[in-house]
Amino acid sequence: MPGKASEDTIEAPMADGKAPAAARRRFGVPESRPIRFLLMVIALGLAGCRSGGAVREGGAANPPAPAEIPAPRPAPASPAEPVWPPIAGRTVILDAGHGGKDAGASHHGVREKDICLDLARRTAGFLQARGVIVRLTRDGDVFLPLPARSDFVNRHPGAVFVSIHANAAAGNPAAAGVETYILGPEADEAERERQAGRKYRIPGSDPVRGRAALAGLTLENRNRGALLAECVQKRLAGRLGVPDRGIRKKNLAVLRETYFSPAILVEVGFLTHPPTAAAMGTEEWRRRASEALGEGIVDFLRRPAGDGPPQSPRA
Ligand SMILES: [Zn+2]
Repeated sequence: MPGKASEDTIEAPMADGKAPAAARRRFGVPESRPIRFLLMVIALGLAGCRSGGAVREGGAANPPAPAEIPAPRPAPASPAEPVWPPIAGRTVILDAGHGGKDAGASHHGVREKDICLDLARRTAGFLQARGVIVRLTRDGDVFLPLPARSDFVNRHPGAVFVSIHANAAAGNPAAAGVETYILGPEADEAERERQAGRKYRIPGSDPVRGRAALAGLTLENRNRGALLAECVQKRLAGRLGVPDRGIRKKNLAVLRETYFSPAILVEVGFLTHPPTAAAMGTEEWRRRASEALGEGIVDFLRRPAGDGPPQSPRA
């Protein structure tokens, strides 16, 4: 509390000339000297006002404040906190291509369905270690029709969807590198929204408002898929040290019919390329490829444009 009470005394006695008994008791002032105590209390109050300090409810004056009070700043994040946007709690769906009776491509002793499942599981571990919620469309050697895959994704609106495949170029064993697919321009956006509206219901809205809520959503996710493709393609080509065959567009069912998610299909390498097929059989290649997939997905989740799930549909 500021001092110098003696310089600020003024003549302002109370009506009865006495300090209240409670105040006297609190400050240890004898009853015989009420005026002096009163002047001291008034002086202290004035000192507080002149220095710009507000008086709290309890009656204690604040210390002097600067002329301009800076806006309160949020507490700094602890070093353990993730940078914005947070990735923990986000949902990623990994789709191991093929499975069961559908082995996919098979060359040089490597079956596509096996490499896809192994990569999906490893990438899931990478992401889960960072707090990401991961769902696998299949976690075993089972056949899963394409509509079942996209329906699974649509029941997790806003989840990031990555379908994992391996490539094959029969008759061209020199073909090598990674490529990532996004939905092609031939997939009509208005038709996709009609399909989405027919198959899924936006909760809490009538059909008209439901359509309004849906408007632009499939397109928005389609655009975010392009960003996701960039992130994943860059990491994969970089970590595997193979040709970057770029982002390609195709009207694939798992891309066309996943309405509420940014969606990509990654071809991690050519089984028909003998050095790649040999590498795919190694622990080292599988670790690097799965880490690259995970890093690319994390890159996307960290992008503010990739943040925020859309409104949930309900079947
Ligand atoms: Zn495939």
